[in-house]
Amino acid sequence: MTAINTLTVSCEFFPPRTEDGIIKLRQVQERLKALNPAYYSVTFGAGGSTQEKTYETVVDIQIQSNIPAAPHLSCIGSTRDNIRQLLQAYQAKNINRIVALRGDQPSGWAGRLGDFNYANELVEFIRAETGDYFHIEVAAYPEVHPQSKTPQADLNYFAQKVRAGANSAITQYFYNVDAYLYFVDACQKQGIDIPIIPGIMPISNYEQLSRFSDICGAEIPRWLRKRLEPMHEDKTALQAFGVDVVTHLCQQLINNGVSGLHFYALNQSDLTLRIANNLGLVT
Ligand code: FAD
Repeated sequence: MTAINTLTVSCEFFPPRTEDGIIKLRQVQERLKALNPAYYSVTFGAGGSTQEKTYETVVDIQIQSNIPAAPHLSCIGSTRDNIRQLLQAYQAKNINRIVALRGDQPSGWAGRLGDFNYANELVEFIRAETGDYFHIEVAAYPEVHPQSKTPQADLNYFAQKVRAGANSAITQYFYNVDAYLYFVDACQKQGIDIPIIPGIMPISNYEQLSRFSDICGAEIPRWLRKRLEPMHEDKTALQAFGVDVVTHLCQQLINNGVSGLHFYALNQSDLTLRIANNLGLVT
């Protein structure tokens, strides 16, 4: 069991596209400070769709909220020069944590593939360019990445990212604790000893969650689907039930000794705060 006061909490946002979105995200950051977050991370669109907005958002977080900010950096479609420039720009702003990813090719994207094929190559490149300056997070998939041929192949590629120099990992979200525990166990048997922080997705909107889960390969268990489906028009009931389910999930993870929780807050604070409050994480 992890003591609540040693648990590290982080929250993930996406770069807002409008002035209103920027103001709202600043308010969200203020509210989420009640969790004493270790950092806020900001997603990145593959193929450059939000490269600049990711940069602007992390810089804004560092200035406005005084919480360390970690940009996601996906390498698909990027050149070594692009990535080098971004790393230098982040170093110039004292940003020293990066979530290093391959990324997904945006649909209809006809750009060239760039200099990187997989995230392990990006991790290697960051280490070669900047030594130990960055704390590098990578992605992990307890329910197996959708493009993987087998769980073992996925695990081997995950191990490659760790050998390339990743310091810790954040998982894709899941609602099945066993998937996570088996994955961590398999990693340990393979000699992977970095922290593997579970990614926690609050349940806000059933249709969105269902669509996104189909794409990213996260499973909504049948019992949960069956309970959420009839609530899809009653947002208050759905969210209250979702808070209950996700609180229970987090509590089981804490009981099993996880060292942190990474909330996919998606520019909202309410559900993350309610879950964290139930867990005794709100100061
Ligand atoms: P990789 O680790 O490169 O793996 C991709 C696939 O290739 C896997 O199936 C793996 O098994 C396989 N593979 C790996 N190496 C090799 C190899 N050498 N040879 C053959 N196969 C290999 N996407 C974004 O676009 N922007 C974001 O900001 C973003 N943030 C994310 C944050 C988290 C915490 C997570 C879990 C995912 C995020 N994603 C994001 C989604 C991610 O980009 C996709 O899941 C993407 O498809 C895989 O990225 P990866 O870094 O895990 O890739």
